[in-house]
Amino acid sequence: MSWDPIGKTETQWASANLTDYEGARRKFTWEQAREYLSGLPGGQGLNIGYEAVDRHASGPRRDKVAIRFLGAGGAVTELTYAMLYQLTSRFANLLASLGVQPGERVFSLLGREPDLYVAALGTLRYQGVFSPLFAAFGPEPVRQRITAGDGVVLVTTPRLYEAKIAPIRHLLASLRHVLVTGQGKTPPGTSSLDDLMAAVADHFTVAPTDPQQMALLHFTSGTTGMPKGAVHVHEAVVAHNMTARLALDLHPDDIFWCTADPGWVTGMSYGIIAPLTLGVTIIADAGEFDARRWYQQLAEQRVTVWYTAPTALRMLMRHPPELAKEHDLSRLRFIASVGEPLNPEAVAWGQRTLGLAVHDNWWQTETGAIMISNFAGLEVRPGSMGRPLPGIDATILERGEDGRALIIDGQVRPVPSNVDGELALRPGFPSMFRGYLHEEQRYEKCFAGGWYLTGDLARCDEDGYFWFVGRADDVIKSAGHLIGPFEVESALMEHPAVAEAGVIGKPDPVAGEIVKAFVTLRTGNVPSDELRLDLLAFGRRRLGAVAPREIVFDQNLPHTRSGKVMRRLLKARDLGLPEGDLSTLESAHE
Ligand code: ATP
Ligand code: MG
Repeated sequence: MSWDPIGKTETQWASANLTDYEGARRKFTWEQAREYLSGLPGGQGLNIGYEAVDRHASGPRRDKVAIRFLGAGGAVTELTYAMLYQLTSRFANLLASLGVQPGERVFSLLGREPDLYVAALGTLRYQGVFSPLFAAFGPEPVRQRITAGDGVVLVTTPRLYEAKIAPIRHLLASLRHVLVTGQGKTPPGTSSLDDLMAAVADHFTVAPTDPQQMALLHFTSGTTGMPKGAVHVHEAVVAHNMTARLALDLHPDDIFWCTADPGWVTGMSYGIIAPLTLGVTIIADAGEFDARRWYQQLAEQRVTVWYTAPTALRMLMRHPPELAKEHDLSRLRFIASVGEPLNPEAVAWGQRTLGLAVHDNWWQTETGAIMISNFAGLEVRPGSMGRPLPGIDATILERGEDGRALIIDGQVRPVPSNVDGELALRPGFPSMFRGYLHEEQRYEKCFAGGWYLTGDLARCDEDGYFWFVGRADDVIKSAGHLIGPFEVESALMEHPAVAEAGVIGKPDPVAGEIVKAFVTLRTGNVPSDELRLDLLAFGRRRLGAVAPREIVFDQNLPHTRSGKVMRRLLKARDLGLPEGDLSTLESAHE
């Protein structure tokens, strides 16, 4: 192979990841990246499930632990690659026995337990389309997604079924089978997953799979509007695998913990698919966030690579650094973060507290895999999302009044370095989404002049590092300036009393909008007029003209289910409007 990101041995790869960034970009092709995978025997195509399971189960890694599940009550369950092969074979055979056709959609509503991973990989091996739902969703978001995705099978627990599905079952016209997990009595209208699995063979051969065939249906987080169903194909696995090597510095001996729930694209692409294609051991934790337990887990499981999110890091940052020091985290070698802007303060905290910088990276449900990243072998610039992956072309396009790329006669124009504009990507990489399901026009509107328009505003410095400015929809227009809320939030978070901030534009007759901040205080701080004035002055010193003019204290900022601050709800709150169709939003206040 003429291009080799790993170096001659996998040990070299770990320490020398992408030190020659420019060289790797020049030499990289996706065709060569595909050679890091097996492909189906006899050149019969490419299947995500085969790359994650079959090729290890029939090789030297067959008895290696693929997934170690840490149950909420402390129980540990391990599945080796060979066991994963048998269980997912049963699931694939079960789909066949139910008459499910390849291409039909299988949904899950499950916590981070073995059945979820088996259903996902079994469906992919069978060539069904898998669509995971976050288990904390209420009935309405579940109904909306199963209906939008034409779900024919749903796998869930009896408890979740009774609470969330039974009341809306009559509305789920496409759904033919509900399979419930566990040994107990199955509710009426459902079948026992275990019974059906026991009745079929534990061997299944993956049939020829067209790499362009639909494999996954992922709904976006719904931060800026109703969630959209992004369609991904089997070929995406080439990008999952390669970006995990390059951006997460992952190699087969690693113990990898991705804290994202598989109900979101990060939890599927990097919590399941990418590490398994590399033959890594994954930690799957059923529990919710708890600072002490998380540190304990990092230490006890000897996690080497940890992929998490700014919200989780901010929660850890609320605790004194001594808590981290109580645990032996010497195995941990690489930390990455995604999903929201990573405030420079969080990178510095990582260095101080864990002795490791946090490597921010950027991507979206639509791109299916990491696009822009701070790499292990390169300087981390705190506050920057990093540089595009080899094989990914990113640019910043001139924007119009509305913050979005300016399109004239179908054409767009890149801006010089350090100028804000809409972040755009050249489509054509394997994990690029192939459509929003049943929303053709919306999909077409995402493209102009040969670029995919991401809806995010960013700038690129003279060294090629990208800096997030805000979502085009969130940007504040004040007295002729466009202000990215992230910059203001980050500055406020440098104040010792501030744990988190959400910043919006508040309508103003003179300026159009003024900057208003909602601030959550760290434990031990009490809201007062004095503190508010202090924060306003602090903001003015740091930010000058773009400083917040109004600050209110709010210990309950609204978050999406995936943990992002929902500025549109803050806006609605501020205007005294009803907070929209809250039942369909992934509000944290369920
Ligand atoms: P919706 O599209 O439904 O409004 P969403 O955009 O939040 O929801 P996702 O696809 O889960 O849904 O999130 C992708 C978005 O998250 C990006 O477009 C960007 O706005 C934000 N994001 C992801 N990573 C980063 C990062 N490293 N820095 C800043 N923002 C990020
Ligand atoms: Mg989005």
